[in-house]
Amino acid sequence: MKVYISIDMEGISSIVDWSQVDPRNKEYERFRKLMVGDLNAAIEGVLEAGAEEVVVADSHGRMSNLPPEEVHEAAVLIRGSPRPWLMMEGIDDSFDAALYVGYHSMKGTERGVLCHTISGRVVDAVYINGVEMGEFGLNAALAGWHGVPSIFISGDQAVVEEARRLVPNIRGAVVKWGVSRYAAKCLHPAKARRLIREKASEALKALDEFKPFKVEEPVEVRMRFATSTMADVAALIPYAERVDGRTIRMVFDDYPTAFRGVRTAIAVAYPVEER
Ligand code: ZN
Repeated sequence: MKVYISIDMEGISSIVDWSQVDPRNKEYERFRKLMVGDLNAAIEGVLEAGAEEVVVADSHGRMSNLPPEEVHEAAVLIRGSPRPWLMMEGIDDSFDAALYVGYHSMKGTERGVLCHTISGRVVDAVYINGVEMGEFGLNAALAGWHGVPSIFISGDQAVVEEARRLVPNIRGAVVKWGVSRYAAKCLHPAKARRLIREKASEALKALDEFKPFKVEEPVEVRMRFATSTMADVAALIPYAERVDGRTIRMVFDDYPTAFRGVRTAIAVAYPVEER
């Protein structure tokens, strides 16, 4: 069995603040160790359940957070950016399952620790065929397009709930309970790792009960930006249509192209400066 793991940082055990996920800050060194701890627990879990190949995509910020020598040696590590498929770089139909470690909820989630959608500064909301999706949904749909089921997620309670709305039987490891966007009640990292290992293993053993999460095609994408200036610029993309002050709409034949459309709109809106 071949397993894909996408790992973000905001949903890692005990992380509650931007400073802890920012390499320019001293605290980061410590929290990237917790990141590798959560990851290795998931890898041990899937190995225990019979995984033979494990590919890990380091998917936070500039995407080279994991100290390579500390990652479980069973895994092949994808690191660095830019890369076309972002948090899902390398996913294809050769995988049997996709797992998500250290994920966070979509922007605007109540008690969602460090919640945002791809770029908190630029994106207010992304709707796929009318359903608002965070990073989990957007990424799981890409795995699903390749026929790969999404079977496990770890993070705070909010992201596990968000994932369950799209994949009701997904196995979740809740490592913290948000009190606010920047505060949480946290499991001890050692306990969080045991839970991650157990749930990841259970998920892969139950692989037969999972179906790939797919979105219907053609795909309608609506994106609401943080400001109207960002929408002014994103609406210039030839395939985009302006819906209202902060929203654009785009329709694509297939999901991977829609995913690229979302990416492109963010890239175009990102440099916009408010005056
Ligand atoms: Zn992140």
